[in-house]
Amino acid sequence: MSGESRRWCCDDCRKSFRDPRVTMAPMLHDHVWSRLAREDETLCGVCMFKRASNRHIKLSLADLRACPANVEFYLQHTPFHFSWFEFFAKDESEAPKNLTEWEKALRRLSPKLG
Ligand SMILES: [Zn+2]
Repeated sequence: MSGESRRWCCDDCRKSFRDPRVTMAPMLHDHVWSRLAREDETLCGVCMFKRASNRHIKLSLADLRACPANVEFYLQHTPFHFSWFEFFAKDESEAPKNLTEWEKALRRLSPKLG
């Protein structure tokens, strides 16, 4: 396998991110990610949640970095987009601690989100 194809698959289940059904895990804060994976590991969303539940870690919006990739990204080779922000926001009953950061990230993206 070439270095490139290695980067484009989940280090746990080995599914390729070129498959539109495989979603790359969101960017988490380092202290959260370090409880789930090594720094150099890349995980898909499914494996991230699997590890979190095995380790009794409840992921929430506040664990996500306020970066554009978490707000919206396009799935490989498809017109579909996916938002980790929306995914986690659905679950939240109270405002996350880093809501201000999120608002800034969303505002940066707002022309695109239209
Ligand atoms: Zn995986």
